[in-house]
Amino acid sequence: MTNGHPLRLYNSLGRRIEDFIPSGAVTGMYSCGPTVYAYPHLGNMRPYVFADTVRRALRWKGIEVRHVVNITDVGHAVSDADTGDDKMEVAAARERRSVLEIAEFYTRVFFEDLAALNILPAAEYPRASAYVPQMIEFAAALENKGYTYRLPSGLYFDTAKDPRYGELAQLHAEGQREAARVEQVQGRQNKTDFALWRTEEPGRRRVLRWDSPWGWGTPGWHLECSVMSIALLGPHFDIHTGGIDHRELHHVNEIAQSEAFLADGKQWVRYWLHNEFLQLGGAKIAKSAGGAPRLADLTEAGYHPAAFRLFLLGGHYRSQLDFTASAMDAAQATLKRLVARIQPLRPLPAIETLEQAASKADPRTLDLIDAAISNDFNTPQLLAALQEALRDPVITPDGLRTVTAAADALLGLGLAALDPADLETSRAAEDLTDQQRHDIEQLLAERTQARKEHDWPRADQIREELDRIGVQVTDTPQGPAWQLR
Ligand code: AMP
Ligand code: ZN
Repeated sequence: MTNGHPLRLYNSLGRRIEDFIPSGAVTGMYSCGPTVYAYPHLGNMRPYVFADTVRRALRWKGIEVRHVVNITDVGHAVSDADTGDDKMEVAAARERRSVLEIAEFYTRVFFEDLAALNILPAAEYPRASAYVPQMIEFAAALENKGYTYRLPSGLYFDTAKDPRYGELAQLHAEGQREAARVEQVQGRQNKTDFALWRTEEPGRRRVLRWDSPWGWGTPGWHLECSVMSIALLGPHFDIHTGGIDHRELHHVNEIAQSEAFLADGKQWVRYWLHNEFLQLGGAKIAKSAGGAPRLADLTEAGYHPAAFRLFLLGGHYRSQLDFTASAMDAAQATLKRLVARIQPLRPLPAIETLEQAASKADPRTLDLIDAAISNDFNTPQLLAALQEALRDPVITPDGLRTVTAAADALLGLGLAALDPADLETSRAAEDLTDQQRHDIEQLLAERTQARKEHDWPRADQIREELDRIGVQVTDTPQGPAWQLR
């Protein structure tokens, strides 16, 4: 049995599609994890659904993966350019809780969201605060090699010492280097230089603090990922993932310091994969701004987490996606249709790999599924192949059962077990107050009147108003019926 189509992926390093060739028996994969200072918003979950898709694709091809996702519980300054207070300390002050409580609370929320989204657990979730001694050793080694300089505010990596600095972000020219998203730090020699260690200011004792050769303080954010990934995956590994914002700064700095540290003339990590952002009404969703929707908001509104996963997978990971209520409605409706269609096929066989699927699956569909996932993780194409197969009257039930299980091994929607009842979105109308019920009836009466008078714009306007408050109107021969979404 062959492994089907070659797995091809878009490597941010070089910005081109390449064949994925594992370097050893086990593929090491590192995904930059969350900073646990606030609730993860819906956009924050996109990188982990994407990383999960990568893992499922590798499993599909029979490639064993060791996946590491870090938890940033120290070191991430309010500005990504290392200036300002630590995000964790700011959150602790805001919520009047200890930094430890903040970290524990939001780490738990993150794990709950991962589980709800059916994301395969990583082998390790290292916490940055547990690796500070190794970070100090790493920074000291860079200092010994002459890659750094000291300022009163900390130890800095001198990016001018790295002739390939910024390759990932394609910041080749000196001029472009200046354009990097950085803020002024007094004494910094190049605008792109970054802190390996942030020494606390005299008289401003930090809550999180460690002693180091550069005084009491905290490690730089970029340092964490280099140190933890090398500690847990070895000096070189195959895949590093993160949101597209990391391609411009965080990963650029991880590469610079890791290659300086290893100094073996080899490329540190071979494949760099970045997901595009999820937009909210066209605007960037920022966790620090507060108020951004999170997974629990969706489930409270009656959506299934798998519907959010389906919504994400309905776009290619390298395309921006717009989060809207109607897109969520559409995703939940699609999921409902899929589950209804699959129900008579249950139980589905247990399948994880192409090889397991090969003997029983409808061959044409299986080839389409394999081609889609091998084509830079093209999940929209994969979904289309599944939907087409489910409409095809010629495929045998056994062939269909197997391709459905195969598709879901890659999509991770949990189709084998989803209960159609869990996908009912209607909130209970009994929960409405008398006033709310009265308002809805009033709007409906106005709409009926407008329709009688053939005032269609007014009728449409009222329908939209009802839609905004979650009321769905259906016109029946007996008059309008409504239900809550
Ligand atoms: P943070 O917890 O802020 O360190 O971010 C965790 C991950 O979420 C990083 O990989 C970010 O690149 C990613 N990220 C942040 N905002 C978004 C968004 N709106 N859409 C997709 N990914 C995001
Ligand atoms: Zn990182």
